[in-house]
Amino acid sequence: MAPAADIDDDILKEKNPPPLDEDDIALLKTYGLGPYATSTKKVEKEIKELAKKVNDLCGIKESDTGLAAPSQWDLVSDKQMMQEEQPLQVARCTKIINPGADDSKYVINVKQIAKFVVGLGDKVSPTDIEEGMRVGVDRNKYQIQIPLPPKIDPSVTMMTVEEKPDVTYNDIGGCKEQIEKMREVVELPMLHPEKFIKLGIDPPKGVLCYGPPGTGKTLLARAVANRTDACFIRVIGSELVQKYVGEGARMVRELFQMARSKKACIVFFDEVDAIGGARFDDGIGGDNEVQRTMLEIVNQLDGFDARGNIKVLMATNRPDTLDPALLRPGRLDRKVEFGLPDLDSRTQIFKIHTRTMNCERDIRFELLARLCPNSTGADIRSVCTEAGMYAIRARRKTVTEKDFLEAVNKVIKGYQKFSATPKYMVYN
Ligand code: ATP
Repeated sequence: MAPAADIDDDILKEKNPPPLDEDDIALLKTYGLGPYATSTKKVEKEIKELAKKVNDLCGIKESDTGLAAPSQWDLVSDKQMMQEEQPLQVARCTKIINPGADDSKYVINVKQIAKFVVGLGDKVSPTDIEEGMRVGVDRNKYQIQIPLPPKIDPSVTMMTVEEKPDVTYNDIGGCKEQIEKMREVVELPMLHPEKFIKLGIDPPKGVLCYGPPGTGKTLLARAVANRTDACFIRVIGSELVQKYVGEGARMVRELFQMARSKKACIVFFDEVDAIGGARFDDGIGGDNEVQRTMLEIVNQLDGFDARGNIKVLMATNRPDTLDPALLRPGRLDRKVEFGLPDLDSRTQIFKIHTRTMNCERDIRFELLARLCPNSTGADIRSVCTEAGMYAIRARRKTVTEKDFLEAVNKVIKGYQKFSATPKYMVYN
């Protein structure tokens, strides 16, 4: 930095740019800065733009593979680093001898073959290492060099929903009661746990959503995921059905282990009837693998604290097939029924799905909703899509009411024989 004396009064009083008053000049002088100091941000921006231009001219692009451009590679120093830092071996610390003392030793198991009593490397502190932890050890003295996170099946890790779905509560037509019930269970205990503590009750751990297909169960779960900042894990029931005995149960265990490691977590089991079926005797005396997976879920539901930050949501079309053990109060306390939408809700669903469509004005959505009795949200969505198809066929750019009426005829009346709603309604 230039000493204060180096700055000339004339330079500081320069009017263009930036105009400064006496106080500013005095301040800048004490720090030995020139009149341009106030516009540093502007200069920084310019530098960034220039750097970008240079990069563009040199042909350096931001690659989508995560690799730096080849011109920025420094292979020699990378190789040197690899030679200096030996690769570590994964081991498990099974026991700590003399924990807390200066001379504490650690018993490690390397690949279940060899056992060693070792010390710590330079970079780890004794508080980092716990019994039963996975650790990285060097290959010479087997000293513990780094604590490792628990091993979780990659297919379980993949179930985390990282990008928030774009569905909000506003995109759900009707279902007011269901939304309210769901928010009470999922959001309230996370945002205001003190309310439950004051009253001395445990908040419900989980919610079962049931109802005919296409009534918005998955949609509501997606809206919940969008709304909360908690980690959202989505599991399709059939994903947990595995080839080998015990694999499904292990995946459930790892799933909940991962959920527990998060600050707050919502686990959503879609189509849970794939694994949650009632237990039966298969006649051969063998335990069914699927049942074992379900029992592990029951176990895990018991395992965590109700005031803890894991909430479990489940969705199914056939609540009658589920095992009573899964449904008993204390596990899935709340059962939320998704019924067929009433007239108001149907009108609202029509409006939601035509929001982005290029429609004629003054379409009588209520009339359309009246024409679709006993239809689900999915049916109404299909009507809207079909109406769009009619408009495309007629080479028009806007969808008219007539298109909607034709679509209602086609979808609601024409496809009636495919509708599964009456079949599923009897189970609710
Ligand atoms: P399944 O039991 O077969 O999984 P589901 O109840 O989970 O069915 P969803 O996937 O939630 O059905 O709904 C299917 C589609 O229907 C949604 O993508 C949405 O466009 C539409 N839909 C259903 N219910 C509503 C609703 N209440 N409001 C707006 N759209 C809805």
